Formats: sequence, C-alpha cells, structure tokens
Amino acid sequence: MALQFYNTLARKKEEFKPINKGKVGIYACGPTVYNYAHIGNFRAYIFNDLLRRFLIWKGYQVNFVMNITDVDDKTIRDSRAQEKSLKEFTDFYTEEFFKDMQTLNILKADIHPRATDHIKEIQEIISKLKKNKHTYEKDGNIYFAINSMPDYGLLANLNWEELKENAQGRLESDEYEKDDARDFALWKAYSEDDGDVYWQGDCCTKGRPGWHIECSAMSTKYLGQPFDIHCGGVDLIFPHHTNEIAQSEGANKKKLANYWLHNEHLLVDGKKMSKSLGNFYTLRDLLDKGLKPFAIRYELLATHYRQQLNFTIEGVKAADQAIQRLQDFILRLKKADGHDYNVEQLVEVTRKNFESALEDDLNISNALAVLFDFVKQVNVELEAGSISKDNSKFLLDFLASLDCVLGIMTFEDDKIPKHIEQLVRQREQTRKSKDFKEADKIRDQVKEEGYVIEDGADGPVIKKI
Ligand code: AMP
Ligand code: ZN
Repeated sequence: MALQFYNTLARKKEEFKPINKGKVGIYACGPTVYNYAHIGNFRAYIFNDLLRRFLIWKGYQVNFVMNITDVDDKTIRDSRAQEKSLKEFTDFYTEEFFKDMQTLNILKADIHPRATDHIKEIQEIISKLKKNKHTYEKDGNIYFAINSMPDYGLLANLNWEELKENAQGRLESDEYEKDDARDFALWKAYSEDDGDVYWQGDCCTKGRPGWHIECSAMSTKYLGQPFDIHCGGVDLIFPHHTNEIAQSEGANKKKLANYWLHNEHLLVDGKKMSKSLGNFYTLRDLLDKGLKPFAIRYELLATHYRQQLNFTIEGVKAADQAIQRLQDFILRLKKADGHDYNVEQLVEVTRKNFESALEDDLNISNALAVLFDFVKQVNVELEAGSISKDNSKFLLDFLASLDCVLGIMTFEDDKIPKHIEQLVRQREQTRKSKDFKEADKIRDQVKEEGYVIEDGADGPVIKKI
C-alpha cells in the first residue's frame, strides 16, 4: 500500500508525495511556555513523534521543526506576576517541557525555534503583507484584512459559528479595534501591561507580534515554502492554521504546506482537557500517582490520532499491563535456549503488516494488534522450547526495530544488585528443603528492597517493581 495521510485541506486520505524525493519537512505547533504542559498537549506531541519516527523508519530524511511560543499575553502576564524577566520565566518552562518530552520518550525536534529569536523574520513578513495590501493599522496595531484574501478559510471549511466555538476564546483574545471581527492582529501595539517586552522596526511601531505570525515566520525560515507536512491539534485548524496560511501565502504568493494533519483531543469526562477548564493533569501529576512513563506514553499513543480519547487513570493502568506483557516477552526471549526454529517468515509477515497498518494514515491500533499477535505466536514457540539463542537474537533485533517507531520498550537489563541475587538463591535453597516459611520471609525482604520474585517453570525471575 502507498503511504497515505488524511489531509485536512482535502478532507480525505491522500497519497503522501514529498516535495523532494526521500526527504520530509514537518512543522508542528509547539507549547506556549507559561506553565507545565498538560498531557492533552502531550497527546499532540506523541502523535507528531509517531509520524516522524515512522517516516524515519521508512527511510525518509526528516527535518522536524517544533516552535516554542515564548511571548504572548500569558507569558508576559505570568512573568510579571513572578517578577521575572520574560526570558528567565520562559526558559524555565521550556526546559521543563524538554524534560517531560524526554520522560515520555518523545524525540527532541531537529530545531526548536523560539518566537523571540525571530522578530526580524516576523517583521519581514509583515512588511511583505503591507506591500501586498493585506493589512491596515489602528493605533499602532497592525491587522490582517481578511477581505483582501478571497481564499481565506479554505482549510477550516466549517460554518462560522462552529469555528468560533472550536477556537475557544482565542478569537476574542486577538480582538482589538478591528474593521471586521474576523480580522486578526499581526502586530500588537505596546501597552503598560507589557512592561519591558517590546520591539520595533521598519514595519512596526513599539509593540510585539501576534501569535499566528510566529509560526509563519519560523516554518518558512527552516523548511522553505511550501513544505511537506504541518501538524497540530484540531483546535488549531481555526483560527491559528487558517491565519498562518493567510499570512504566508499573502506574503510569499506560494502555498504554505501540502499536507495538514490534525490530532483529535484528549478528553476528560467528554470535555477537552485544557488549562482553561481546569480538568488537566500534568505529567508530574501522573508520575506522583505512581503511573509509569511508558504506560502514559502507550495510553496516549494507542488510539488513532483522529479519534478522541477519554483519559482515565484506569486506562493508564491497563496500558501498563500491555507494557508489562512486552517486557515479560523480552525477558523470556533473552533467556530462550531451545532448538532452532524458522522465524524468518513470521518476522517478514509481521514487518509487512506493521508497515501497512501505519501506512494507512498511521493506523496505530492495527499496528499494535500486529505486534501483539507476533508476541502471542512467539510465546507459543517459547513455551514449546523451539526458540534458540540465535532465533532469540534475531527476534529481539526485530522487536527493537519496531520499537524505533513505537518507543515503548526497554531492552537493557535492569541490573539486579548482587545481594538481591544472593537472597533469591538463598530462597531457592530453602524452598528445596521445603522451609516455605523462611522462603516467604526472604521473598518479603526482597520486595521491601523493590524487587519481586516470580516463580516460573524455568526457575525464579527477578523484576524491579
Ligand atoms: P497550546 O499550548 O494550547 O497551543 O497547545 C499545544 C498543542 O497541544 C496544540 O497542537 C494543541 O492543539 C494541542 N492540544 C491542546 N489541548 C489538547 C488536548 N486536550 N488533546 C489533544 N491535543 C491538545
Ligand atoms: Zn503554530
């Protein structure tokens, strides 16, 4: 099957054809760094990560850009409230964001450009838009005039009321003294509330950029125009992405991006998880509850990106069991020492089915079903003692290659401390001499140190709790 994605612009699945053979440029809208990201945001970033990892796995050279929004109403408001400079304040949350990404095994972007480092590029676009007669000014604010662009809104193609609802207040926060309520600010005039945050230039008097313009400036700077894929959550289709298109295409008279991929929301009790509704969990909230990073990643990954996902703690616990099944499988494979069995055909079929599933607009549920079917089949052979050491190495390498796409497995051994191994040997002795009371005592002692002993047919297995 050819690789295809659902393109919001076309409202259907389309075959993916990169602009330059073998290369893909992707831009994803990143976080506004005024607080810790919530796990709804991480659903978007895990979807971006899956897309990118899969394209790399297929052999594309991927250039992945994710911006950091480090200037807007909220970053200015909260940095001032904390009496910190905008940079000191946003640097802190940017670093926390990177740490969270690492915890969730999300690959860092090739470039994470920050809005405040691109004021020159932003002003260049505004100058071009002025020249092309797409703007007007009022009291130092510069607006994009939507009626100057007949194609405005093609991406969204929703009715106006619906769009307003989806934008959840963002429309309002961009409203000043505008000719038309739909016009949006490219540049916002300085107000006292902005403190020491302002720039000026040929196009613009003292002030700061609007939110949408930064993505136009940074995507084009690093990926050219047009580039291949633009991603974000469905809430960004309007107004953010619609306005990005208007700005970039109005300034450069070229298409902005060929494929627009949008992830659906993470919900809580049927409502979008968001800061404004207060129904959110940060990653640290979940880790504090004892939930594990790979289980959280699995939960956010395992539902197709275009389906809504209702978040529950129980869901993460179930995801943890799936992760545990994979880790148990890896452990068993490592210990396999049976006779030789032909695993090549099974691996080839699995690889093909896994790839076809993801080629179909990243159908992750099917890809995971293929993976677990493979695990089941190999487990039967392990049970029958048909997997040799060589088989096992081959299968582990294959599993690791699938995990380059999924990022949910651990292949290094968790080093078991020597004294724990010693205790387990001691327990085996006591079990052999039928002193089960002593054996249980040792098991409890091992547990207190953070390890469990599982008695299997091949002897005890020690696992970190
Ligand atoms: P924001 O910081 O609100 O601009 O969001 C950053 C990214 O996270 C965007 O791509 C949003 O669409 C996405 N996002 C925000 N909330 C959710 C959610 N509840 N579920 C999925 N994605 C979300
Ligand atoms: Zn953006």
